[in-house]
Amino acid sequence: MKCPHCLISFHDDQERKSIDTDSNFRWTLVKRTCPECGRFILSFIQEYGLNDRGNYTQSKEFFCYPKAESRSPLPKEVPNKYANDYKEACLTLADSPKASSALSRRCLQYILRDEAKIKPGNLSDEIQQVLDEKKLPNYLLKSLDAIRNIGNFAAHPIKSKSSGEIIDVEPGEAEWNLDVLESLFDYYFVRPAVLKKKKDKLNVKLKKAGKPPMKEP
Ligand SMILES: [Zn+2]
Repeated sequence: MKCPHCLISFHDDQERKSIDTDSNFRWTLVKRTCPECGRFILSFIQEYGLNDRGNYTQSKEFFCYPKAESRSPLPKEVPNKYANDYKEACLTLADSPKASSALSRRCLQYILRDEAKIKPGNLSDEIQQVLDEKKLPNYLLKSLDAIRNIGNFAAHPIKSKSSGEIIDVEPGEAEWNLDVLESLFDYYFVRPAVLKKKKDKLNVKLKKAGKPPMKEP
């Protein structure tokens, strides 16, 4: 599973402690420990649907610490200043898509300003600047444009003006914002790091062969 604290995958080792059976359900406490960050992931399993043979046929798992849906693991290359808001947005997604969206919109604004070097304005205008400049690949431009459409920015101008504000979200908006952030992380931090690794490897080979290193682009 993916650790909902640090978003790194680990082998799902569980410790189970039976609690008791109430009038409807059998309850079990499940403890997992993330080997990466060392934190517990605690949940309750509720079993029901008792059959003639005395077995429960159905179950549900409720995560209580942290209360989170886990998304794809966050690559290590993503700088903390963005990773922190993104992780918080993932953690709050299940309980409050509004809070999650406020965090992801704010994070998006930081990336556009610091990585895409966009002039600070309101979020909608900043996205427009990125679209006009056409420096990013097409799939990213379309995804960014969709943030305004899915979020119905026209009906909620405050989303654009104060991106960190907690206001109503449209269905799917919170998830979409996180999806776009992941694509931007991949473009700005992960791919360049992969390319650099390959280049360094090649340069080692060239050096061994007595040749000059690859030219910087
Ligand atoms: Zn962890």
